Amino acid sequence: MKSTEILPIHSAQTDGEQALLARAADCIRAGGLVVFPTETVYGLGGNALDGEAAKKIYEAKGRPSDNPLIIHIADIDWAESYCHTNALFYTLACAFWPGPLTMIMKKRDCIPASVTGGLDTVAIRLPSDPVANALIRMAGVPIAAPSANLSGHPSPTTKEHVIRDLDGRVDMILAGNPSEIGLESTVIAVEEERVILLRPGAVTYEDLVSVLGEGCVSIDRIVTDKVTGEFIPRSPGMKYRHYAPNAEVLLLHGDEERVLSYMQTHASDPHTGFLVYEEDVSTLPPQRTLSMGRKDDPVMQAHRLFACLRAFDEMPEIKTIYAPTPKKEGLGLAVYNRLAKAAGFSIQSC
Ligand code: AMP
Ligand code: MG
Repeated sequence: MKSTEILPIHSAQTDGEQALLARAADCIRAGGLVVFPTETVYGLGGNALDGEAAKKIYEAKGRPSDNPLIIHIADIDWAESYCHTNALFYTLACAFWPGPLTMIMKKRDCIPASVTGGLDTVAIRLPSDPVANALIRMAGVPIAAPSANLSGHPSPTTKEHVIRDLDGRVDMILAGNPSEIGLESTVIAVEEERVILLRPGAVTYEDLVSVLGEGCVSIDRIVTDKVTGEFIPRSPGMKYRHYAPNAEVLLLHGDEERVLSYMQTHASDPHTGFLVYEEDVSTLPPQRTLSMGRKDDPVMQAHRLFACLRAFDEMPEIKTIYAPTPKKEGLGLAVYNRLAKAAGFSIQSC
């Protein structure tokens, strides 16, 4: 068990906060682990050029070592040193960086195999969060940072989630604001003339199409379907069960009224929980029902989803969580993907 320093930080703007960041940057350069806020979810960071630091990240999270890490940079100019860029990469970087888009490119030799799970590609992102950006800039090296949760738990969107999972496992936690977006970044594989969406996030399929045109963007089947057996996914992490609360999650699909009335028929069972839209909360037992946000507000649904899944873990009597199946449009596709993964793609028609 390590002794973990928990350091409050909010803006990266005061002299005091700059001094904290300088210490955190020293820790990264010295091979240590620092948790930091980003606009997507909190990240568990280590020096991406140091293979030993990467191994410590896998160990701290309990993450399988074939599940590669995203490296985070502080400026577009840094990218060329760590991956082989192309014209499409710069088109997308200009459109969406800094922000929640991760691009998978052929890696350069300076990125150790332990960071990429042995692949010859590397996932790269330029975050917009000012604390994240200042930390990476001060460290002067790319920071490899998966989500700062224990492997298998929902990604952390608040400092409390991080402390619960990683206190005693990392050197420092920069305890900042709740994550603005609340879901992990969009991940795409960038080829010469087209991209493949591997994990949906706040940069949506429609956003990518608006920049590249429909013919240049495809959605990997791993985003919407359960994969089994011999299927080898392009994105190794997508094969693992993720985001899973302790209770079983069951997604209900069908007409809105039928889904709600199905839930109501199960409402008297004290072992059921309900994760529903704001409009439906008042029709279910208040102590076992959480709101994801309004039906027409996927931004709020994304923001709240992981915190809700974690909140059910605080209710040990809940054995099954019922939730509606989100629409797969815009940011809804990312909410659908995370909920479907939490449910192990168990979707019941009503
Ligand atoms: P996380 O670190 O929890 O945000 O997860 C990172 C995601 O990016 C996982 O699903 C990884 O499988 C995926 N990823 C990272 N690097 C690569 C890569 N080189 N090729 C394909 N997928 C990657
Ligand atoms: Mg993760």
